Amino acid sequence: MWDGFREECGVFAIHGHPEAANLVYLGLYALQHRGQESAGICSSDGEMIHSHKAMGHVAEIFTPEVLRALPGRQAIGHTRYSTAGETVLVNAQPFSVACNKGRIAVAHNGNIINAAELRRELERNGSIFQSSSDTEVILHLVACSRERTLAGALREALLQLEGAFSLVFLAEDRVIVARDPHGFRPLAVGQMELSGGEKGYVFSSETCAFDLINAVYLYDVEPGEMVMAGPEGLTRERYAPARDHAYCVFEHVYFSRPDSIVFGRSVSESREMLGRLLARECPAEADVVVPVPDSGVAAAIGYADESGIPFRHALIRNHYVGRTFIEPSQAIRDFGVKLKLNPIRRLLEGKRVVLVDDSIVRGTTSRKIVRMVRSAGAREVHLRVSCPPTISPCYYGVDTPTRRELIAANSTVEEIRRFVEADSLGYLSMDALRQAVADERGEYCYACYTGVYPTELVHLEDLLASKPRKA
Ligand code: AMP
Repeated sequence: MWDGFREECGVFAIHGHPEAANLVYLGLYALQHRGQESAGICSSDGEMIHSHKAMGHVAEIFTPEVLRALPGRQAIGHTRYSTAGETVLVNAQPFSVACNKGRIAVAHNGNIINAAELRRELERNGSIFQSSSDTEVILHLVACSRERTLAGALREALLQLEGAFSLVFLAEDRVIVARDPHGFRPLAVGQMELSGGEKGYVFSSETCAFDLINAVYLYDVEPGEMVMAGPEGLTRERYAPARDHAYCVFEHVYFSRPDSIVFGRSVSESREMLGRLLARECPAEADVVVPVPDSGVAAAIGYADESGIPFRHALIRNHYVGRTFIEPSQAIRDFGVKLKLNPIRRLLEGKRVVLVDDSIVRGTTSRKIVRMVRSAGAREVHLRVSCPPTISPCYYGVDTPTRRELIAANSTVEEIRRFVEADSLGYLSMDALRQAVADERGEYCYACYTGVYPTELVHLEDLLASKPRKA
């Protein structure tokens, strides 16, 4: 069944470095938060493309032996998380093929919303697909193109795609990256100085990966732009006509790391501002401000600073919870949340608590956390959310459930408050969200909060409603 929807992912690429695969490994390590299900690296030694993909975390997959088998001066990598696609290795990226344009590999962050139509047409013309991922469509389009050069074929393929894509391609001697004309997902360009004055070029979903490898952040790939790193150096080309920009605001609210610069803006600055504005719009009479770690930390710091209420790290997160944890057969209430979070009773007992988190999706986790804080002795729990109510699913690469499962799509704020069992509940306004990300020119996508989508979606909602989901 076609189920290649909504993948949260990170991409990384490097050109012109003798230790290309090692550096991609480090890049992916810094992007691990963007996807924990599978990871892969493809490298090129100038003739062959070498590939290794597996399920699991980057640090487990890429042992020294595996990395030694990925030679060459250029490489790309991908880390993937998908609740929607099948959780199988065939969907792990990068994908690679040998076609009349040579050997190529691709890795993708985003979601191509017309992939099902393109796939049907390609299959009618004889293409045979190996995965259920929307990304594979791109390789087939490139292979089918009558253009003689790879860059020409890529241009032709990209112009047929609708939706969100930040792509990294690997060819025998070059790396080509591209961003969709709306610029939904981030993609940054960096540079590394090599010994002898040579330069290596790096590309990453987030700039935190550059910091780890001592690369310098140069600029973002522009929406509708293709950037090529080859033997001739770095070249930039606009492949698509300009469209309205639609940068995903959720990258700043939740998804990206706070130490990254995303869409030219510090994520940490946005998050702190979200918290400050939240304190102004939704004040509370309270004794402590407590974040839901990690996602609520920066906003809670902003809230505490602005309100003058002391900040306390009263919920401690265990970062080492594996995906394959075996639940005990004996039922323990709220076990899933207890595995990840534990309250510090000393900081909560008898206190009126402002609990700050970045979002409420279904409301079930939030309710468990409110209960946990209360059972640790809190007298009152005032939940504050550093974004507006999430009322619409994302079709551009963030994992959100269908509208039916989104609590704010079907309930009032008061009904949600009752569901999560908080004493009060406050969400940030749309105006404040715009202000927090400094969106003066209307360049962000807010579809999950407004239901107004920057592209046509047609029948996607029906398809999603009928699609099986992992719990
Ligand atoms: P719930 O109360 O069940 O809606 O869960 C809310 C929690 O889910 C918050 O702590 C969010 O940080 C987290 N969250 C929101 N969106 C996502 C997402 N796309 N992927 C993973 N976690 C998310």
